[in-house]
Amino acid sequence: MAKDLKDLKKKKNCTFCSDKIDTLDYKDVSKLKRYLSEAGKILPRRITGTCAKHQRMLSNAVKKAREAALLDYVFEN
Ligand SMILES: [Zn+2]
Repeated sequence: MAKDLKDLKKKKNCTFCSDKIDTLDYKDVSKLKRYLSEAGKILPRRITGTCAKHQRMLSNAVKKAREAALLDYVFEN
């Protein structure tokens, strides 16, 4: 996990774009979790390098996953 995070930090380009991902399955919790901090918050774009489009997709997927109780609820502030 810590190593993944370091890799994400190093790469400043959007991993979703480079993987040509246009849909994000909210049930794919293991993938979503790579973009969440240990506290369960969505990591900011400046850390993950995710583009605006995919960051929005990601936050929607995380929201859905929380509604489906696949991820824990955290208060974002
Ligand atoms: Zn992207």
